[in-house]
Amino acid sequence: MKSISTFDEKLLEKGVDRLILLKNPSEILFLPRLSAELGHRIYVKRDDLSSIGMGGNKLRKLEYLLAEARREGVNRIITVGARQSNHARLTAYAAKMSGFEVDLVLKNSVANSSELYRNNGNIILDELVDAKIHEIPNDLRVSAFIEKLVQDYREKGEKPYFIPVGGSNTTGGLGYARAVLEIEEQAQSMDLDFSHIAVASGSGGTHGGLLAGVAYLEKDIQIQAYNVQLEREPILEDTKTIIKEIAGLLNDQEHIDESKIHLNNDYVGEGYGLLNEETKACIKHVAQIEGMLLDPVYSGKAFTGFINDIKLGKFTNSRDFLFIHTGGTPSIFAYADRF
Ligand SMILES: *Cc1c(COP(=O)(O)O)cnc(C)c1O
Repeated sequence: MKSISTFDEKLLEKGVDRLILLKNPSEILFLPRLSAELGHRIYVKRDDLSSIGMGGNKLRKLEYLLAEARREGVNRIITVGARQSNHARLTAYAAKMSGFEVDLVLKNSVANSSELYRNNGNIILDELVDAKIHEIPNDLRVSAFIEKLVQDYREKGEKPYFIPVGGSNTTGGLGYARAVLEIEEQAQSMDLDFSHIAVASGSGGTHGGLLAGVAYLEKDIQIQAYNVQLEREPILEDTKTIIKEIAGLLNDQEHIDESKIHLNNDYVGEGYGLLNEETKACIKHVAQIEGMLLDPVYSGKAFTGFINDIKLGKFTNSRDFLFIHTGGTPSIFAYADRF
């Protein structure tokens, strides 16, 4: 029987531990009014509601990433993201709580020069915990900038640890492989049987981790991801790498079934971080009928796609549906002029 404890034991055998940020499973809630509208049972896993730094999916990844940083004896965490990055915000909170210094390299990668986008939402929360912010333009110099930053800290005798965009590497992805086992245990105790799990994808770690978790569980669950980046191929490649490497850790073999990767690009609109009318209408509707807040960049787009695909009858052999709410709600305030 595969369970959270067999999963944890398997990783411990490989020397991989967790720095616990999330003590309890996140809630799975039924959406009664939306379910009645769609004629299907729709549940949401509320990874947006966690006790740290306004919550979100990056906390699951940070449990493994910061544990690795701790094993390596580092003192400083450096990460990178867009100006309104949820990943940067949660890295700042989790790192500070765990006794690390933290640097955020924030790229001006979204074509939005409004005062709100620049200075509200996540930025306020980053500043509140005194994260060191490096604002840089969005061009090829990003990686050179980071290399130099890491090098400069090393020369000062510090030990920095770099976390890539979105915390999406194999270590971070483990958080969502583990989430599959959490979902399975919750589903059993609630007498539910999820055939489809939908989620937003931005850098592949969440999606890749989920697919690796489903493969480990050996259960027939379709993971449907909705890409929030215009480009599909680079995300797909990163997702595959993460699945393979986690499979290697958990099963000692790197075989993956590529037919199980479902990455939909139809709901990104004009690009990353650009809110469109369809997404806005979905965010408003879900807030009005269920009281649940989706965000403009990730969960709003993914939920729009998920509902639309259900309406289009794209999911066959469906039992119960689960949407993973990955968070991002602070960015609503950065887009306040759009609602
Ligand atoms: C980062 C993020 C995602 C995407 O997760 P990835 O693992 O980067 O694909 C989805 N939703 C929110 C709110 C996020 O911040």
